Amino acid sequence: SHTAVEFLAGTEPGLFVDGAWTPGATGETFEVFDPASGRVLATVADAGADDAAAAVTAAAAALPGWAATPGWERYEVLRGAVEAMRKNQDDLAVLICAETGKPLAEARAEARNTVRFFEWFGHETMRLPGQAWSDVAAGRDAVVLQEPVGVVAAITPWNFPGFMVACKVGAALAAGCPVVLKPAEQTPLTALAIAKAFQTAGLPPGVLNVLPTSHPARVGEVLLAHPDVACVSFTGSRRVGELLMREAAATVKRVLLELGGNAPVVVLDDADLDLAVAQLVRARYLNAGQACVAANRVYVVESVAADFVAALTEAVRGLRVGDPLESTSDLGPMIDLAAVERIEAQLAAAVGDGGSLVTGGDRLRSNDVSAYVSPAIVSADGDRQPGVFAEELFGPLLAVVRCRDADEAVQLANATDYGLAGYVFAGSAARGMEIARRLRVGSVGVNCALVSEPQLPFGGVRASGLGRERGRAGVEEFLETKTVQLGR
Ligand code: ADP
Repeated sequence: SHTAVEFLAGTEPGLFVDGAWTPGATGETFEVFDPASGRVLATVADAGADDAAAAVTAAAAALPGWAATPGWERYEVLRGAVEAMRKNQDDLAVLICAETGKPLAEARAEARNTVRFFEWFGHETMRLPGQAWSDVAAGRDAVVLQEPVGVVAAITPWNFPGFMVACKVGAALAAGCPVVLKPAEQTPLTALAIAKAFQTAGLPPGVLNVLPTSHPARVGEVLLAHPDVACVSFTGSRRVGELLMREAAATVKRVLLELGGNAPVVVLDDADLDLAVAQLVRARYLNAGQACVAANRVYVVESVAADFVAALTEAVRGLRVGDPLESTSDLGPMIDLAAVERIEAQLAAAVGDGGSLVTGGDRLRSNDVSAYVSPAIVSADGDRQPGVFAEELFGPLLAVVRCRDADEAVQLANATDYGLAGYVFAGSAARGMEIARRLRVGSVGVNCALVSEPQLPFGGVRASGLGRERGRAGVEEFLETKTVQLGR
């Protein structure tokens, strides 16, 4: 683990600005911790306002050149970075594991996805869209150009420190946009490792800049106020998303937000309960429950509720909590003690408000940085659902609510401000599809947990955010349309 950290980041724990590593203008540093042990992994330069301004200046200077680079050449740079990352994919996984605390198998899957999403976006850059129209008026043709929107500020969360960077940076670079990336303060090392891969591949200076900081607001304020930043792409909390949207208003930036979810699950009376349990255990407890698409609340119809809860409880009790580097561990620690305290408070609120604790919720082991929490289930009845179930449950806590029928299940499923992911378990595709249409969310898994595939657009409705990431739609968010009419 130590070798990987040193190799990928420890040797150059600076900011990456204008193609070079720099200690930054503040002269300050901050520590990155391993949540599993509480130990310091690395000491990293701490970006400030001047660094943010320098990064935007570099990105703005790089914009004309990168925008005018033919797709094939942009692809070759992305391919070079992909090759560098793929060569070090095992180390990248260890780094992700070390700074997030997620089990190594999950970190390996994330490293693999990070590399292959960059690869997919690399291919997309060769086939950016455009349109041509003949004779739109007498003696007149038209072309619709899709140009890069401009400099993109990307702000990423800690739960998928590589994959979230791939989704934003891969798409923006493919579209021809330089990026200023501000990774989460808990997990800057993976982002720095990715920057290193792009440096190796000969990405022109300024096209990608990375600003680790322990003071996100001081960097964020500059990025959001700067007239040369055209677009901000953010994944994180609703509170910060609303703040960024307000800040972006003054310069009318394009705002792409992915603000988390509170994913409901509807289990119908003819569902395959074993399948539902197996998929939901994955969909809830992956990354110790710290994923925005994670199943939060299950609405199960009364007639199968007892069987479902029994099978679910048995499966959840079989999950193993332990050191993320051990292959036997299904759940590692949570990211930090603040996250632990939040989920504990939500569990207590549910139990004090009509819910009953079925299993779990104990702190099994802790250190100065974080704690390991045993996977928990809280159950309740549909007519007395605890109020806290309307909040995002970002940890290993699953709510199970018994419902009269499918209609009550759908009504309660939609009774939240969020709308990112949802799940349905039904005996037929037709019944599953019917419920899927009624869920007010951006992605639905019918008889399955969700997987991330590059061609599939992803994003939220309502308070879960604005815009789509991944897929062709995810590239197009970074393009601006220009209509040119041609008289002849
Ligand atoms: P989480 O609860 O997942 O930590 P946050 O919204 O706090 O969610 O963090 C997501 C990202 O937003 C991180 O990169 C974090 O540093 C960043 N962030 C937090 N506050 C601000 C801010 N005021 N301006 C810009 N970015 C911020």
